[in-house]
Amino acid sequence: MTAEKITMQDQQLKTPNEPIIPFIAGDGIGPEIWDAARAVFDEAVEKAYKGKKKVAWKPLLAGETAFKQTGEWLPEETVKALQDNLVAIKGPLTTPIGHGHRSINVTLRQKLDLYACFRPVKYYEGSPSPVKEPQNVDIDVFRENTEDIYAGIDIESGSKEADQLQQLLKENGQLEKVRFPETSNYAIKPISEQGSKRIVHAAIDYAFKHNLSHVTLVHKGNIMKKTEGSFKKWGYEEAEKYGERVFTMNTYADIKAEKGQEAADSALTAAEYAGRLIINDVITDNFFQQSLLHPENFDVVVTMNLNGDYISDALAAQVGGIGISPGGNINFETGQAIFEATHGTAPQFAGQNKLNPTSIILSGAMMFDYIGWHEAAKLIQDAIAVAIRGKHVTLDFAKQLPGSELLSTSEYGNFIAKTIDFS
Ligand code: NAD
Repeated sequence: MTAEKITMQDQQLKTPNEPIIPFIAGDGIGPEIWDAARAVFDEAVEKAYKGKKKVAWKPLLAGETAFKQTGEWLPEETVKALQDNLVAIKGPLTTPIGHGHRSINVTLRQKLDLYACFRPVKYYEGSPSPVKEPQNVDIDVFRENTEDIYAGIDIESGSKEADQLQQLLKENGQLEKVRFPETSNYAIKPISEQGSKRIVHAAIDYAFKHNLSHVTLVHKGNIMKKTEGSFKKWGYEEAEKYGERVFTMNTYADIKAEKGQEAADSALTAAEYAGRLIINDVITDNFFQQSLLHPENFDVVVTMNLNGDYISDALAAQVGGIGISPGGNINFETGQAIFEATHGTAPQFAGQNKLNPTSIILSGAMMFDYIGWHEAAKLIQDAIAVAIRGKHVTLDFAKQLPGSELLSTSEYGNFIAKTIDFS
């Protein structure tokens, strides 16, 4: 076997038997969780493919570690290697504090155009949870990653830009809408048709691929009509392109207007019965309520950047918290993807070998699924399920699970690897 790059051919990822996969161990607890995860990944691949496949891991620098060694937070070499090798995995990175510094994660997502932040939120039996029926949570969140208020167009009161913006508002008769113009700061929220349609497309494709029954557009279009309201409109337009394979709430509303509620309801039931994918929408605040009260009503949720940020973490809290929830940032057209731990660097725990590596381990399982190594992915997910069900857990879970066996980060990694070995 020789180490080769993963490539994209005819809209399909081509994964060689020994793919080069770059990793960024990360800052804070990053190196500890990465070491635990890597042992699990290598064991799962070995067990699944008996030496016929293996990963050629390629270390890359970013974050505080990179800054200390190279004087740069995100070296160009790292960006280049990520672009060249398409699929990578990373631990958490410190966000530099201070004027002009943006989060490295946000920069990476923008530079590589990783427009879909995919966060599957699923309950592993035995995980501590604040809700009564966490097993009902099985929701795949597609969060748009490159637009919205995260675009970073922030304008400070008193600056030239603020004056120019206020002038423009004045000329358009809109300045009176600003309650305290003298001291207001501003941020611009770009939401585009292309950006909205491509993330909705990704969510719908995913739902079809996994035989799911609902895709829900989450938005605050009742208030932000031109941005989030348009996201909903464009989302439904994208859905209509799938023709008879989907049934949208626009169609429902048309039937209701023409033939009444009963006819609309029976058309919806018929569509569900026929296995058509239902595309509906919900206002963001209502989504937070509904996902606590009736999480079973949601399969795939697609939304914009800021909503998606809140929603992913709120849902994760229902099934065990950010210590275990995985994520990936993907561009489905170019194939470029970075899978990552969804929590931060937890600097106060760095070097203590205490916290939970499950988030990055399950992100690795997502990565193996993405490159087509489904057998390795399943072995990892099954071993995590065995560990949690048997209460072999790290500090964050042990504190909430009486009678559990407290494992360090590395012991937990070894436990998972050994469980794979015996599976
Ligand atoms: P954090 O996620 O690092 O920590 C918050 C708390 O969550 C911790 O104190 C800990 O109690 C818990 N926690 C985090 N990871 C855990 C794990 N693996 N297992 C168990 N418990 C865990 O968030 P923060 O303190 O707000 O941020 C610290 C740094 O991380 C900042 O520099 C921030 O910018 C950065 N950050 C990076 C990412 C990323 O790289 N994706 C994400 C969020 C924050």
